[in-house]
Formats: sequence, structure tokens, C-alpha cells
Amino acid sequence: MADMKNKPQPPIHPGTKEPITAKDFYPLFAEKLADQEMNQTDPWIEIPEEVRDLYKIYRPTPLVRAYGLEKALDTPAHIYFKNESVSPVGSHKLNSAIAQAYYCKEQGLTNITTETGAGQWGAALSYAAKAFGLELAVYMVKISYHQKPYRRSIMQTFGAQVIASPSMSTKAGRQILTENPNYQGSLGTAISEAVELALQTPNCKYTLGSVLNHVMLHQTVIGLEAEKQMEMAGEYPDVVIGCFGGGSNFSGISFPFLRHKLNEGKDIRIVAAEPACCPKLTRGQLMYDFGDEAGYTPLIPMYTLGHSFAPAHIHAGGLRYHGAGSIVSQLRKDGFVEAVDIEQLDTFEAATLFAQAEGIIPAPESSHAIAAAINEANQAKLEGKQRTILFNLSGHGLIDMTAYDQYIAGDLTNYQLSDEEIAKNLEGLSKVN
Ligand SMILES: *Cc1c(COP(=O)(O)O)cnc(C)c1O
Repeated sequence: MADMKNKPQPPIHPGTKEPITAKDFYPLFAEKLADQEMNQTDPWIEIPEEVRDLYKIYRPTPLVRAYGLEKALDTPAHIYFKNESVSPVGSHKLNSAIAQAYYCKEQGLTNITTETGAGQWGAALSYAAKAFGLELAVYMVKISYHQKPYRRSIMQTFGAQVIASPSMSTKAGRQILTENPNYQGSLGTAISEAVELALQTPNCKYTLGSVLNHVMLHQTVIGLEAEKQMEMAGEYPDVVIGCFGGGSNFSGISFPFLRHKLNEGKDIRIVAAEPACCPKLTRGQLMYDFGDEAGYTPLIPMYTLGHSFAPAHIHAGGLRYHGAGSIVSQLRKDGFVEAVDIEQLDTFEAATLFAQAEGIIPAPESSHAIAAAINEANQAKLEGKQRTILFNLSGHGLIDMTAYDQYIAGDLTNYQLSDEEIAKNLEGLSKVN
């Protein structure tokens, strides 16, 4: 944010319509995290020593030249990927989980809450909470709780308490269950429940694994390493790609490179790859919207499909979120980042090719970045020109094999959202100027 000429608009209070300050966030988040959230002046924020010590378990993560994939595509492009799947929990989420648990502990808190969709964030935070001696309650979207039992057992193994959401343990959950007893849950509902519990428990704060500015900040460790590693490889990317849920791994890999574009006018393209069935950046609008379904959060300026939007038929659970973080939203508005949307079947085709060429089963989320990178490499081949492509492999898919099974059995489909569906969910929101 310090490097942006047009800063993102601040979140606003839904009642008073006043801008939110860092202090307004103190009841919800650890104070240092709230300060980071609103910090628009410091271009560098030091990573605490205790956080670095835990990073050392798996960082720096490898930057890999995808020779196998290049060969399979017969492309003149050079393809690199940053391999965040080597973290102990299998995804980039641990980068922010460790930082958030650290700041909560530093403030003297004893408990934290969160929500998780596919279970990646919950797994990462469970490990981080245990490392810093915090008690963690995770609200897990009900459909994932039942469909992805292994992620639940991973969280429980790390010592977290996992609750299927919607649950009867909160007012938000009870309200939804009363109206619709069979509701299978959504990330928005789970957020409402985790926020409610945090606000009602002494010495307890809420944490979030994506969307917010401080999460993007923590994830920039990915791009900062990649920047140095590309230099060691003697190359510089023409295009940097990340898959896009709320924006944390995308921001992590791209913001350090974007800084060259903002400050030095470097000619580099930054591309977000999102699912065609949850296309907030490509087909959503920049509006003030709630971060959660029940409307407990401030109104955040974001490219959004509306907080009541629930994407259908998608296996990349981590990309289901309805909106984009406010930094990326402003950058998108100002033309500094591009976005592409990818059909589900194309992501699995790309994932299969990548697995066969590189020996890594990618997370269904990461496969969106792979598909976008393959499109770039094919374009380079068409043009007969070298192009250096860097994408983030945000996680591995070893716990997502049910989705691969369905793809192999031919049971997966594409899903196209109609303009009417999108317009319906945006009704009543106000535009960001
Ligand atoms: C959570 C997750 C994502 C999506 O979240 P972002 O905040 O957009 O990065 C992508 N890939 C993996 C492996 C995830 O776990």
C-alpha cells in the first residue's frame, strides 16, 4: 500500500458509514495485525525472529524450472513455479498462520477462532496455534466437514477443536439452521460464527486466512524469495500468475514484482486466475460489501459477486469466496493486475498434464494458475517468442483425490454463471468511487 499512488478506500462502518480505523478492529483482531491492516506508509515491515524460526522448517521454498511441462507443451517459454506445497501442511496458508498466531500470543491472548472452507487454512492455523500454545476453535463449512474428513482429522491431530458450520453454538448459526435446517454451510456463514465466538470469549481474537491486507503482507515472503531466486536463475518474469480465492497467494507471489512496476515502470504482467463459476475479478463489480454472509464485518471495498453468492459445482474449495481483497481490487481498478477465468474441466486437464510432467499432484486451486500458465506458454508458442512465466503452486492436492477421482470418472462439469444471477446478488450494494 505504501507504494500505491491510489490507496485502497478504507472499510466503512455499515451503520454510521464512517471509515474504520485500526482501533475499531482491536476487539476483533490482535492489535499488531489491525495496525498492519491499516498501514499505508511503511513499505517494509520486519518479520519477527520467532516467525522466521518457524519459517525455517520449510522456507525458503524451492523455485522450480518446469522443464517437464515446457517439454510436454513444446513451448519456447521458460516456465517457473514457486513450490509452496512443501510446507508441513501442504499449502502457502502456513505463512500467515504462523505470523497471526505469533502476534496473538505476543499480545497475551489464550484463544483464537477461525473458519475454514476446504480445510487448508484451518490445518495451517491448527499447527501454528499449537506451536505458540494457543487454543483454537475452527468453524468448518459443513459440506467440507463431511466431504473432506481428512482435513478435519489433520486439524484435530494438531489439537484444534473443529465445529461443522452452521452450528447451534452461535446465534448466527442457530438463525440460519432455523430457517434452513439442511443448509450445508458457506465460508460466509462460518466467518459469522467464528467472529461471534471471538467477540464473546475473553482473551480471544478472530483470525482470517485470506482477503485482508495483513494476510497479503505476510504472504509476500513468497514473492520476496522468488525475486531473489529468479535473479539467481538469471531471469526476470514477463508474467506472474497466481490462482485467486480471496487473493493471498496471488498477492504473495506478485506484490514484490508489482513494486518494480509501480516504482520503476517495469514492463511485467500480473495475472489472477479464478474459477469461471466464481468470477469476482472478471465479472464482479467494485462495491462496498460485507466480508461475511450474516453482515457482521465492516463494508469492504471489493470486487464482489455479493456476500450472499454461493458458487455451485466447484471442487477448488479455496476459491469459493465471493470477493477480492481491497488492495487487489484497487490495483485491478487502476489496471495494474489482469484477471482470467478458467473452466473447471480445463483446470483438471492442466493439473493432470502438470502431474505427469513434474511429478507433483497440484491442489485443485493451484491448477487454475497452472492452466493460466499453460495458456501463456501456448501463446508464446503461437507467436514463436520466448516468454518467462512464473506461477505460484499454492499447494498440493494429495488430500483432494476425491475431486481427481470424479474427474477421472467423467463426473465433473463446467458451470457458466448467467449475468442475471450475478446482478441479483449485487442488488442493494453501493459502488466504490
Ligand atoms: C486457500 C487456498 C487458495 C486460495 O486462497 P488465496 O487467499 O486466494 O490464496 C489457493 N490455493 C490453496 C492451495 C489454498 O489452500
